[in-house]
Amino acid sequence: MRKGIKGQAGATRQHLITRHLITRHLTRQHLATMALLLGTAALPAAAAAREAVDLILHDGQVLTVDAAFSTRSAVAVRAGRIVATGGEDLLEKYSAAQVIDLKGRTLMPGFIDTHVHPIPIGPSDVNPLVAHSIVEIQDMVRKKAAELGPGKWITGYGWQEAALAEKRNLTRADLDAAAPDNPVLLVRAGAHSATANSLALKIAGVTRDTPDPKGGLIEHDAMGEPGGVIRERQDIVARFIPPPTWAEMKAPMIRTLKGFLALGITSFHDASGRIDDEPAGAGGIAPATPGAEVASGDMTFARARALYAEMGADLPRVTMYISYPGAERLKAFPHHTGYGDDRVRLGAIGENLVDGGFTGPTAWLLVDYKGQPGFRGKGRYTDAELQDMVDNANRLGWQLGLHCIGDAAIVQTINAYARSLETIPDPAHPGDANGPGDRRWFTDHFTIMPPDATMATMAKDHIWIAQQPNFLYNLENRYVALLDDWRLAHNNPVGTPVHKFGLFMAFGSDNLPVGPLVGLYAAITRKGPSGIVHGPEEAVTRPEAIRAYTANGAFLSREEHDKGTIEAGKLADMIVLPFDPLTAAPETFLNSHVDMTFVGGRLVYSNS
Ligand SMILES: [Zn+2]
Repeated sequence: MRKGIKGQAGATRQHLITRHLITRHLTRQHLATMALLLGTAALPAAAAAREAVDLILHDGQVLTVDAAFSTRSAVAVRAGRIVATGGEDLLEKYSAAQVIDLKGRTLMPGFIDTHVHPIPIGPSDVNPLVAHSIVEIQDMVRKKAAELGPGKWITGYGWQEAALAEKRNLTRADLDAAAPDNPVLLVRAGAHSATANSLALKIAGVTRDTPDPKGGLIEHDAMGEPGGVIRERQDIVARFIPPPTWAEMKAPMIRTLKGFLALGITSFHDASGRIDDEPAGAGGIAPATPGAEVASGDMTFARARALYAEMGADLPRVTMYISYPGAERLKAFPHHTGYGDDRVRLGAIGENLVDGGFTGPTAWLLVDYKGQPGFRGKGRYTDAELQDMVDNANRLGWQLGLHCIGDAAIVQTINAYARSLETIPDPAHPGDANGPGDRRWFTDHFTIMPPDATMATMAKDHIWIAQQPNFLYNLENRYVALLDDWRLAHNNPVGTPVHKFGLFMAFGSDNLPVGPLVGLYAAITRKGPSGIVHGPEEAVTRPEAIRAYTANGAFLSREEHDKGTIEAGKLADMIVLPFDPLTAAPETFLNSHVDMTFVGGRLVYSNS
């Protein structure tokens, strides 16, 4: 039996009587005496007076994150939903099969990460995410080469130079030394660049003379040879990797999703979502022959539906962003945003890249990068292309959540959104006059604060933000190197857009890393690993930060009536923290963990 959890079924009669009486302000001595004196006749009446529930958590600090951010000490749960919140008197009102004494710990709504890519570790993958040095990555690659044999692709995700002892990018030569006879492609954390070895570049036909692909950049070494790093367009190499099948990737995907539960994430927005895995007319939009499946191991929407039908109760709930598949194919798809249920549902047309990111850097700025006169990055779409995509999705009833990182990309995106919102009626409310309505479109990222006029347009047209406050922490070195003082101080802003412009903001991680506690730390302190405070005016209070990582994520997927707070009637998606997030030293967020995670009232993760 887990610590802090006890079944009530085995409780003695005396315990039941004692619990029943405890709220009548009797002393423990009185209770002990009275319990002994009370006859059996008193018991059925006492038990019958209490309403049966499945679970009671009590003796805690319950942050409800309701409108008033009120605190309680106990919660009762039945059939996956919260029945009541209150004080210790809930133990008298309800009788539960399971009672958990929180012993003063914090119970709060589960985190909702509004931007995460579930990245499974597949059979050809190494895991450079956990490496502390290039030497360690080389060791992983060497072992994988021995395991797979020569010629087989070796892949992996998540290296970042700041975490490596050598403090530099991984190069072609590093990988050649480890696996000269295997093609290798290792994607950097954030997925905006990757390093290939010589064999991989050879297979992809990348030579010293290969021009940069549209929207991307092939880095070269001092001799003019490709150095291995390809920014933004690593697909020019990745497309030669034989894709794993879903049969191979399903178990690793389940492991990855369960890993989110250990981080306290009870719902997430999957920024890798796709719908093109079944033929048009059969619930999908694949142009392939009937019955043909997409040849990849991706968790597409249909696969997620099947997986969650099988074992959704053990997994975090998911809202899937859908990558824009083109006007005709989107039209052939019979559903739009909101389709699904409380386990798996369709989210926005999202994560299509209006620009790149700072790990390249390929973010599109309104001014030159620091120390790089003339270089501002560039956008991926012409204004007309972007407008076309936005308008097509809008007419079909989709929410929009496009990826825009740099201020130039944000301005372009907001202009396209505003034009579309102001001219095309909301298909969900066709009777309404043209106008923004309540379509909850958002920018997926908001790294460089755009001009005030753009934020004023966002307020006017109700365009919101899916922000990643942890970027400030984990990309601090990149920002310090690449941004002028003002943009550095306002990187990934929260305070100004929320307080000054009244913009609605929900938090997420975008895998840098996935853990919400780092994001909360950065949002309340504005500190990176250096300890330097960047733009204190962009910080928010702890309750604001907690709300942005819980309730606000539910709002973004139109599920605010169902989850995001601990209130009667809502899904019992909750976590237990061993510290008080309202008063603990900020560093606690970096060093602590989640004790328990509940989805729909089920304990799906326990740290003990
Ligand atoms: Zn993105």
